Amino acid sequence: MGNLILSEKEHIVLQGEGPHIGQKMVLFRVLGCPIKCEKCDSAFTWQNLGQEVQYSIDEFYAIIKDFQKRYGIKRVMVTGGEPVLYKTFFEAYFEKYENDYIEFEFETSGYGDWAILRKWWPRIQFNFSPKIGSLKGTVHTIWAAFDNLPHNYSLKVVVSKSTIDQDLQELTAFKKQYSIANNYIYLMPLGTTRDEMVEQSAFVLEKSLENNYNFSPRLHVFIYDDKRMV
Ligand code: SF4
Repeated sequence: MGNLILSEKEHIVLQGEGPHIGQKMVLFRVLGCPIKCEKCDSAFTWQNLGQEVQYSIDEFYAIIKDFQKRYGIKRVMVTGGEPVLYKTFFEAYFEKYENDYIEFEFETSGYGDWAILRKWWPRIQFNFSPKIGSLKGTVHTIWAAFDNLPHNYSLKVVVSKSTIDQDLQELTAFKKQYSIANNYIYLMPLGTTRDEMVEQSAFVLEKSLENNYNFSPRLHVFIYDDKRMV
C-alpha cells in the first residue's frame, strides 16, 4: 500500500452527475488509468504526468477533516483516472479511521473489483461508468466490479444522438449480463462543452423516459463549460 497520488490538488465541488447531483463534496482526482480510452475526457490524469500531489493516510484524513470544518462537507468524492488502482490505500484508510463515519463516493469505470472494501460498502456510493456504447472505442476489458456489485451504486452511460441505437443495444446486453435493474441506470449526454450539452440533453432526456432509465445532466459542464478543477 503506497500513498494516494493525485493528478491535481483536492478541491470543493458540487457533484455534477448521478444520484447525489448537487451535493457538496471534497474531490480527490487520482493519478493513472490503465484503460486509456480514445475519448477520455480526463486524459490529463494519465498523460503528461509530473504535477502529482501525494498523501499518506494520515494526511488524507487531515485534509478531509479540514474540508469538513471549512465547508461542512458530508461526503468525499474520489475520481480519476481510475480510483480502483488505490484500493489498498482506501482499505488501510478505512481500517484506521473506521470509527469516524465519513461517506465516500467513488467515480470508477468498473474495471477493477472493489470487494476488498466490502466491510465499508454501506458508507460508499459507487458510480460506475464502464465504457460501453459509443464510448467503447478500442477498449476491450473485463468490468470486474460488476461480478461483485456493492450495496449502493449507479451505472452511468453516456449516449448521443448519433449513436443512440448502438448505445441502447449495448446497455441492454450489459444490464442483462450483470442483472442490473433500470432504477440504477442513468443516461447522460455526450459532450465536454456547454454547447454540446444543450444540443444533446433534451434528446437524451426523452430517450431516458422512453426506455425507463434515469436521466442525469452533467451539471459541471452546463455551469463551467470545459473548465478544470470545478
Ligand atoms: S476509464 Fe475513464 S479515466 Fe480511464 S481512460 Fe477511460 S475515460 Fe479516461
